[in-house]
Amino acid sequence: MNTDTDRSTTVHDVVIVGSGVAGLSAAVYAARADLEPIVLEGPEPGGQLTLTTEVENYLGFPEGVGGMELIQNGKDQAERFGAEFVHGTVEDAALDERPFELVLSNGDRLRTRALIVATGASARWVGAENEDELMGYGLSTCATCDGAFHRGDDVLVIGGGDSAMEEALFLAKFADSVTIVHRRDELRASDIMAQRAREHETIDFRWNTELLEIHGSQEEGVTGATLVRHPEGHPKDKLDDGLEVEREEVDVGGIFYGVGHVPNTDFLADTAIDRDDDGYLLTSEGMTTETAVEGVFGAGDVMDPKYRQAITAAGTGSMAALDAETWLDERAAERDAAPVAELEADD
Ligand code: NAP
Repeated sequence: MNTDTDRSTTVHDVVIVGSGVAGLSAAVYAARADLEPIVLEGPEPGGQLTLTTEVENYLGFPEGVGGMELIQNGKDQAERFGAEFVHGTVEDAALDERPFELVLSNGDRLRTRALIVATGASARWVGAENEDELMGYGLSTCATCDGAFHRGDDVLVIGGGDSAMEEALFLAKFADSVTIVHRRDELRASDIMAQRAREHETIDFRWNTELLEIHGSQEEGVTGATLVRHPEGHPKDKLDDGLEVEREEVDVGGIFYGVGHVPNTDFLADTAIDRDDDGYLLTSEGMTTETAVEGVFGAGDVMDPKYRQAITAAGTGSMAALDAETWLDERAAERDAAPVAELEADD
């Protein structure tokens, strides 16, 4: 086992940032290729799957599999082949020099020839008044984590996609009533999830409606909300445009956000890595995980605004490890062929 000092002085072949399904899949492939990857677990070890109860659509589990179980199995599998897991979050990445250098939030530094970014995405917030104060006090982004606190409550779920349907269906096990608040009159969710929510007797919908303000305090929790509605949808935009909207105060004991995710790429802001307008990592065209910086590869939700499935994240994780392995091999061959003076200047 490496000590912290060993890790900061050693130049690693591969560091994988993130330990969700993409990072784990990359770790299994990189470890099996004898690259001895270091996996930085990040602020949410195991990623989004650890917040899910049952995963029904991951190939190979006809009865479904628990999110936690899938992640723990993946970690055990990666460790079996020699991957090393380290607690740490990257604050800063120097990618304009080789080897790359990562600065962690505890001040530790890691040096690596290749880097796999598998930092995933975190829950988006809607921008309602008081959300900063009440997040964790009756306002939540994770029904599977906090749903059981709302036995007998009336709760709101914000959003119209699969996440919102999933949150609502889970909350319906505990809450007296669940109201899905969606800013348009048409769901984005898949037909099967939308149908389950629509047919559930405890779940109701508010269409063309948005959450403007959350009522309550850290002492008493969430007590209610102000909703706004406009028949053409997106009422907050209408409000900003000075148009008339309907306002309604509702009494609720909990509010859950299910409005999608934002990719965790802030630590790459000052690097030459290309990102799209929403912050997703851009990879080269074609079936590759290569980014704008040679030797840096992207995997999972951080580079995938479209599919965002556990199985696709595992797939791109394996691709990133294979791409990194090929790149390291090519670079080693170049180094073997280089004159001694150039070698000394290199890593
Ligand atoms: P999503 O599909 O992007 O849906 C986000 C929803 O939130 C949309 O309905 C959007 O409204 C709404 N929204 C976004 N920002 C908002 C804001 N500021 N205020 C109010 N509403 C806002 O995200 P997702 O539901 O997390 O799903 C992401 C992916 O994961 C999808 O591919 C989904 O199929 C998959 N997923 C699958 C499952 C499952 O199969 N069990 C579960 C969860 C997620 P608009 O519709 O107006 O844009």
